[in-house]
Amino acid sequence: MTDPANKPQNPARRRLLQAAAAAPALAFVTPCRAEADAAMSKAEVGYQDVPKNGQVCAACVYFMFAPATSAGPASHCAMVAGLISPAGWCEVWAPKQ
Ligand code: SF4
Repeated sequence: MTDPANKPQNPARRRLLQAAAAAPALAFVTPCRAEADAAMSKAEVGYQDVPKNGQVCAACVYFMFAPATSAGPASHCAMVAGLISPAGWCEVWAPKQ
């Protein structure tokens, strides 16, 4: 029988949990700095430019809208580094309340 405490964690989930644990300390840092510290790479969270099972970045609590430019998507995410598409998705997706 496998002990759940010894189960390997998804690296993205581990970093998300670490960021959540550090949240009280980050409250004393500027918001931009806190976002930079918590940001994960697209690869870590399995980001893709298309929705998954009806879940889409534009409906995610971490989504920060900015109009797209001729160069492509301009929106950001509070959890993922770099530009993202409103039509994208990743493993950290959480619905807006
Ligand atoms: S689905 Fe992922 S990339 Fe998209 S806004 Fe949410 S956390 Fe960011």
